[in-house]
Amino acid sequence: MPELPEVHTIACGLETALQGREFTGVEVRRPASVDGDPSWLAKELPGKIITRVWRRGKALIMDVEPKLVLGFHLRMTGRLYLPEPGAEPGKHTHLIFRLAPKSGQSDRLFFEDPRTFGSCRPMRQGELADWPFFAALGPEPLDISAQEFAGLFKGRSAKVKGLLLDQTFIAGIGNIYADESLFRAKIRPDAGADSLSAEKLRGLHKVLVEVLNEAIAACGSSISDYRDAQGNAGAFQNEFRVYGRAGEACMACGSKLSAMKVAGRTTVYCSRCQPKRRK
Ligand SMILES: [Zn+2]
Repeated sequence: MPELPEVHTIACGLETALQGREFTGVEVRRPASVDGDPSWLAKELPGKIITRVWRRGKALIMDVEPKLVLGFHLRMTGRLYLPEPGAEPGKHTHLIFRLAPKSGQSDRLFFEDPRTFGSCRPMRQGELADWPFFAALGPEPLDISAQEFAGLFKGRSAKVKGLLLDQTFIAGIGNIYADESLFRAKIRPDAGADSLSAEKLRGLHKVLVEVLNEAIAACGSSISDYRDAQGNAGAFQNEFRVYGRAGEACMACGSKLSAMKVAGRTTVYCSRCQPKRRK
C-alpha cells in the first residue's frame, strides 16, 4: 500500500506530466471504482484543464479548472499512471482518462486497481471537506512541529504504533514508516502512548520526518507493485532497517530482529534497541 512518500512521488510525477493538460473524455470500465455518479466524469471532465496534482495523507488530489476536483484513494493496489503510447488497458484498468494530444506525451491516464479497494471521487470545488475520508484525516506529519506532534499523544493509552497507523490521528503513515521510525526512535511499537515522555515523542517526530524525507528523496519504497507516475520503482526499500527483516540481524546491535502483531499488522523491531518501558 503506498504511504506518504510514495503518494507524494506519484503526485509530483503526475503534476509534471499533467499540469495544463485538457481532458477530452473518460471511459468508465468499472462503475464501482467511482465513488459517486459514474456518468458524472464523462459529462463534466471534457474540456476541463488539470491545474494541480497534490497529496493529503495517502490520498491523491487533482484540481481541475474550472471548479472541479478528483480525489483518488489508492488503498491497497490502486495506481494512476500514464501508459506507454499504444499500451492496451488490462483487465484491472477500471478508468481511462483521455487527454488532448501533446507531442511526446501520453494522451491517456489509467486508473488500475487489481484488488478494487481504491476509488476516484468526483467533486466540485469546495466539496473536499464533505468527503468523509478526507475530512477525518489527522494532521500531516511534515507540517506540524515536534511539540504539536507530542501533544497528539496526550492522554492516549493506545499502542504507539496503532496510533501512527490511524489516519484520523496522523495522516500518511503505514506499516513501513511506522516500523522504521519507531526503530530509529528506539521505541517499542507496542508501548502505550502515555508511557512515553514528551521528549521521547519529540524524538519520534524528528526521526519520522527524517525517514519520510529520505524516502521522498529516494522516490518512495517499491515493495510488491508500487511504481510512480512514469512506471519507475522507488529505491527506499534498500534503506529498510527493520521492515520485512524479521529474523535478520539488527543493523545497530546485531541481535536477531523480532516480529509481533500490533494493530493487526506484522511489526518488526529489535528487542534490545527498542526495550520495554524505556523513557
Ligand atoms: Zn538492535
